[in-house]
Amino acid sequence: MSHIEMQPFICLEDNYGLILHDSPSGATAAVDAPDADAIEKQLRKYGRQLTHIFVTHHHADHTQGIMQLKELFGCKVIGPKAEAEKIPGLDITVEAGGKFTWAGREVFVLGCPGHTKGQIAYHMPSEFAVFAGDTLFSVGCGRVIEGTMEEMFHSVSQFKALSPHTFLYCGHEYTLANCRFALSVDPENRALQARAGEAEQLRGEGRMTCPTTLGDEFKTNPFLRCNDPHIRAALNMAAASDAEVFAELRTRKNAFR
Ligand code: ZN
Ligand code: FE
Repeated sequence: MSHIEMQPFICLEDNYGLILHDSPSGATAAVDAPDADAIEKQLRKYGRQLTHIFVTHHHADHTQGIMQLKELFGCKVIGPKAEAEKIPGLDITVEAGGKFTWAGREVFVLGCPGHTKGQIAYHMPSEFAVFAGDTLFSVGCGRVIEGTMEEMFHSVSQFKALSPHTFLYCGHEYTLANCRFALSVDPENRALQARAGEAEQLRGEGRMTCPTTLGDEFKTNPFLRCNDPHIRAALNMAAASDAEVFAELRTRKNAFR
């Protein structure tokens, strides 16, 4: 079986659009709908018909393009049941812990409460890909808005159970700012230093820093490294629980400039 083609692109200010295409069947999905015009442009460029939208959460910068794309393509919209009233045009609801088949591949639905209450991520093991929305970013994680720190800690931590070869597709291009914060709590981390330099260069050239791999995130992302002794020492939290370290990191990130 050939692999599904993945085309990420940046739209709006710093949102990621992503189009999946299975060439044999023609199945084509957008992950979230931040900007209908930008998504349509990508589709037209390759002569593709949108068949599905996978929605991660209800925020406008992930859903505002849905109705326009539905009108244009008659695509089916898949999204979290827990946010069904807040997402326009939903056709198929999915639940945390569930799975469905798309283009002949299994897609597992990961519950990710924290940024929003009903947020989900989509994991396609056959493609070594996870679509994390605003839960896990490269070298960072989403703001905790509707859920608790404890929920977000578990939502982010579950990515540690996936293969390090998994490509992480996230909702925003925040890598440069995330690296600056990460270096403030983990300054001696060589992998992080290298990632920061690479991100600087990529963004300087107007290129994307995503997807990354989870393996790289395990080495660089402080929110996946709450048990790291250097980070704990920097926070003066040697004896705290991982969840407490996570909450402190997220609180500091909110105030970090
Ligand atoms: Zn969001
Ligand atoms: Fe967002």
